[in-house]
Amino acid sequence: MLDKKNFYINGKWIKPSKSNDFEVINPSNEESFAVISLGSKVDTDAAVNAAKNAFVNWKETSKEERISLLEKLLKIYKKRFNEMAEAMSKEMGSPIDYAISTHTASGQAHLEDFILRLKEFNFEEKFNSKSNNYIAREPIGVCGLITPWNWPINQIALKVIPAFATGCTMILKPSEIAPISAMLFAEMIDESGFPPGVFNLVNGDGAGVGTHISSHPDIDMISFTGSTRAGKLITKNAADTIKRVCLELGGKGGNIVFADSYPNAVRDGIRNVMSNSGQSCDAPTRMLVEKSIYDRAIKEAADEANKIKVDVASKKGDHIGPVVSKVQYDKIINLINSGIDEGATLAAGGPDLPNGLNKGYFIKPTIFTNVTNDMEIAKKEIFGPVLSIIPFESEDEAIKITNATEYGLGNYLQTEDKEKAKRVAKKLRSGIVYINGNAADSGTPFGGYRQSGNGREGGVWGLEEYLEIKTVTGWK
Ligand code: NAD
Repeated sequence: MLDKKNFYINGKWIKPSKSNDFEVINPSNEESFAVISLGSKVDTDAAVNAAKNAFVNWKETSKEERISLLEKLLKIYKKRFNEMAEAMSKEMGSPIDYAISTHTASGQAHLEDFILRLKEFNFEEKFNSKSNNYIAREPIGVCGLITPWNWPINQIALKVIPAFATGCTMILKPSEIAPISAMLFAEMIDESGFPPGVFNLVNGDGAGVGTHISSHPDIDMISFTGSTRAGKLITKNAADTIKRVCLELGGKGGNIVFADSYPNAVRDGIRNVMSNSGQSCDAPTRMLVEKSIYDRAIKEAADEANKIKVDVASKKGDHIGPVVSKVQYDKIINLINSGIDEGATLAAGGPDLPNGLNKGYFIKPTIFTNVTNDMEIAKKEIFGPVLSIIPFESEDEAIKITNATEYGLGNYLQTEDKEKAKRVAKKLRSGIVYINGNAADSGTPFGGYRQSGNGREGGVWGLEEYLEIKTVTGWK
């Protein structure tokens, strides 16, 4: 059993103020493999205090000093790359090859991209050539960073790196369900030589450390990724101190498959939903299929879902792993049962355990057809390997159904008609629209409309979230 009970505060690993052990469970075998501590208000205060003191000097550092430290961190990250992949594979059940090629690679990509953006970024500029006014961008201050378990290092890198880059100091509270990758990242930060107090890590749950961070008077900004439920509570808790609250929340993405889509569009859509065991905020979990190809699409979808192997995370190869926890497993199985009760047709998968697996939180890739947009399975973020297929007759109807959700994070559309693709993309109410499976480039902004949040992470937009803007007149 790994002992991970200490917190990283003011450049040192220190004991919690009082012991409150919490076991970290490997979802592939339901066994605990590490113990962390859930922190208290005293621990949170100590970390915030360290960050507040460190801000005085850190905000004065030059861009070059910060770039040089981030480059050191990148080197160390590359050196310990495999350790990072193994940590995530164990704590959240990502198959090891996927943890290497996707989860861990995303952390490296964000580090590389933010270093590039920082090199090009102007923190000060003249308002215009005739004016004596100057516009300065200054670090906002002490940041509270709260992250989820589903893309652990991806979410942490999207917050910690821009906070460093802009001259902010911080306290990170990773998900208590998957905290080991975060603690490894803290070790890397320590090894890189960032000044004490610039980065602090306190483990804890939402009701404890999460709430202390949200309401703390000395924290200037919260960057939160997680559920819409927690996003609302954080916003309320942050209101009294008027701190900036940047939210990256849930989603219920639509994937519009027009009759003139490329041949593999349905199969690619299935692979996309099921990857990471369906635990991605921008997963295209509602597939809207044009009526004229509906029967063919259902056959292809079921066939592809049945081909996807489910297995333990430590095994190499192309398969999906378990879902993260017993809580998530029960929630997903309940929603699958609710789909059956509401009259949707089960075309693949279902609530039973996949063959050969009787331990671990495994769920079969599940496809529902004949779904209507008012069913629970079409409205709720299931966060498991479950897809709903909904038929449509016209372009307008497809847009209407896709937008008929409280979320607005990622939507997808498939058509060979370039003009139609652009027309529809403009009408979809979401922070990102993926046409024909094209990926978003490194450094593009990521975030949601409506109840999917209000922030944008990545690239220049990701840096700007951590900055205040100041106008100075008479600047000669
Ligand atoms: P969660 O909201 O339960 O927990 C996320 C984090 O918030 C954890 O660290 C948790 O301890 C903390 N937390 C919980 N309640 C809190 C409270 N009241 N105050 C302060 N902190 C609190 O979410 P999760 O189950 O860990 O993650 C899955 C969710 O994250 C999904 O809804 C998913 O869509 C969302 N997500 C969104 C994005 C995005 O970029 N939009 C990316 C990844 C995940």
